[in-house]
Amino acid sequence: MALKVPPVEPVRDGLWSVPVVIPDNPLGYTLVYLFETPSGPVLVDNGWDDPRSMAALRNGVAETGHSLDDVYGVLLTHVHPDHHGLSGKVRDVSGAWIAMHPEDAWIVSMRRNTDDGWLLQTAAVMLSAGAGESDLADLPDLSVLHAHRPDPPALPTRLFADGDIVDVPGWTVRAIWTPGHSPGHTCFAVDGLLLSGDHVLPRISPHIGLYDEASDADPLGDYLASLDKLRSESVTEVLPAHVSRFAPLEPRLSSLAAHHEERLAAIVASLAGGALTTWEITAAMPWNRRWEDIVPFMKRAALGEAVAHLRHLERRGLVERVPGAWPTAYRLVPTPAG
Ligand SMILES: [Zn+2]
Ligand SMILES: [Zn+2]
Repeated sequence: MALKVPPVEPVRDGLWSVPVVIPDNPLGYTLVYLFETPSGPVLVDNGWDDPRSMAALRNGVAETGHSLDDVYGVLLTHVHPDHHGLSGKVRDVSGAWIAMHPEDAWIVSMRRNTDDGWLLQTAAVMLSAGAGESDLADLPDLSVLHAHRPDPPALPTRLFADGDIVDVPGWTVRAIWTPGHSPGHTCFAVDGLLLSGDHVLPRISPHIGLYDEASDADPLGDYLASLDKLRSESVTEVLPAHVSRFAPLEPRLSSLAAHHEERLAAIVASLAGGALTTWEITAAMPWNRRWEDIVPFMKRAALGEAVAHLRHLERRGLVERVPGAWPTAYRLVPTPAG
């Protein structure tokens, strides 16, 4: 059941909220923000690469009194397809620049180059975690979906760094790098407003997963640090990329952090009886429905989330991999006696 799409509306003088439908997705819509500038509109995010989303974006921008053809620039909170999906098409009609953080730009180049290996890589990750044959049953169908997805994501034409004042003429928009949900996720601060992308959303805890199994990344550790990083900002209203605007920020930061601490504690508790495979740990974590009722595609997302939590517990010195175990298994680190 998708959320009802809200209307196009002004947030402040010259700053608009433009909802763009995400077809067939329970998230419902992406909230695109439009800054009016003397050089033309600057969009923060855009939408899913689908004709229905493109029509919603074009009509939504028209409702603000502007034209998609006049867009000056596209700022991206992150690389995900419900944010960056239409960047290439917006650039094609307007000549706009496309700006993102380098850590997400790297993911774009990876996605453009490694399509063929996706099926094999996903199967290998699942098997090594301890998934069974039935858990892999719909992979070939998914690979067809993957192969027939729309155009590859557009390469950015500009990069920004943490703390940069980005090119939004007439406004002072500051980039705040908030890695975790994606490695290059960035929020934008302007006049007491925080454009929070997917980093801080009302009601929803954003997915935290691994982008590169081979790296020693700790995305959950990054995410928790990125929540803390926002505590020093003075924010009167949060403009997230999904659901709706809200205030205050601080309690939401605390509840998102608490949510992950609960899950970390649940994993530690699940290992009290001895070592478990990554897949068994994933199945034992608290999800919003019974593990048996979760569709295979979502189980794979759950696995990514579990691995991110396990990595972070390793960093904290609470769990460790069982040496030589296949599939990969984890156990509690014995606490020194005395
Ligand atoms: Zn996202
Ligand atoms: Zn999103």
